[in-house]
Amino acid sequence: MTHTIAVLPGDGIGHEIVEQAQRVLGALGLDLTMEQAPVGGTAYDLHGHPLPEATLALAKRSQAILFGAVGGWNYDSLPREHRPEQAILGLRKNLGLFANLRPAILYPQLANASSLKPEIVSGLDILIIRELTGDIYFGQPRGMRVVQEGQFKGEQEGFDTMRYAESEVRRIARIGFEAAQKRSKKLCSVDKANVLETSQFWRDIVIDVSKDYPDVQLSHMYIDNAAMQLVRAPKEFDVIVTGNIFGDILSDEAAMLTGSIGMLPSASLNASNQGLYEPSHGSAPDIAGKNMANPLATILSAAMMLRYSLNEASAAARVEDAVKAVLEQGLRTADIYEAGTTKVSTSQMGDAVLKALN
Ligand code: NAD
Repeated sequence: MTHTIAVLPGDGIGHEIVEQAQRVLGALGLDLTMEQAPVGGTAYDLHGHPLPEATLALAKRSQAILFGAVGGWNYDSLPREHRPEQAILGLRKNLGLFANLRPAILYPQLANASSLKPEIVSGLDILIIRELTGDIYFGQPRGMRVVQEGQFKGEQEGFDTMRYAESEVRRIARIGFEAAQKRSKKLCSVDKANVLETSQFWRDIVIDVSKDYPDVQLSHMYIDNAAMQLVRAPKEFDVIVTGNIFGDILSDEAAMLTGSIGMLPSASLNASNQGLYEPSHGSAPDIAGKNMANPLATILSAAMMLRYSLNEASAAARVEDAVKAVLEQGLRTADIYEAGTTKVSTSQMGDAVLKALN
């Protein structure tokens, strides 16, 4: 069966890094079609909208989307609905991408890049699964109003609603258990059940779902403790599943443990395993067009695509092994360069990964 991939490079370094990931995908001997379309600021310049109809239609009919990054200084003054970042929100909403998977891997060769002691982080390999479409970020009602009673009566207040429906918790919990089954069979659910009703509800549902996965060892941790343990002993975690706001914070914290934003892939999946795959970093306008961006986060995102949306696990492992091999050879783009290693450009890094594949 031919796999269909929508390629949306976007802005800034998007084209440079996505090109390398496309070369890698193309070299695997798989039956793939890759169709490209503009997104973000580039799409706004061409079509007056960051997510043109044709781009959205391409994304919808593809099994997976390889996404670069969007945004740039020249778009910062546009009205909100035309800002490049709206393209990502539009894709998430239209495709129902509710599960965000962010691995935080620290390759032993890069252990010095972390702000933590190498022995605490070297070899770190954890997966944070964040619910992406619910929680306090989308709950209604929200807004501003005048306080009607109590100590602050008569004052203005801002308010939001934290909420999760049962099916929303069930489906993200399943993603967590299934990911844990493919790894070390340990799942930690993070919440704030000692204070929040939404979290107590979340915990009850996760426990109920766990009955379908007797082979997975489930634990629970409060968000404040999880934030602490993640810097104290991050390697004690394997798969973490959590809600939108806690996941937002924990996944950024975990990213910083690795110290190298150019290395971190991500996936956002819907219920049919259709997914958007992108590096965790932005469009890096400061280095765009200089052939110096690190393409490895995007290449590793392509590996996630092979594993989660295209069901090509062995091809995914080949790509991940090739990335390990180039690091082992001492090749580094500028962002991860240190004395004693060899500095390479974006395209040279792509060349090296291709060579390591074979
Ligand atoms: P950024 O991630 O683009 O850059 C932060 C720093 O990291 C910069 O110094 C940059 O040069 C460096 N960097 C990022 N990726 C790199 C790579 N692959 N190789 C080497 N160095 C890399 O974040 P920012 O500067 O805050 O944002 C720039 C633009 O990107 C903004 O318009 C922002 O809105 C947008 N953005 C987009 C996404 C996305 O598309 N998902 C995510 C975050 C930010």
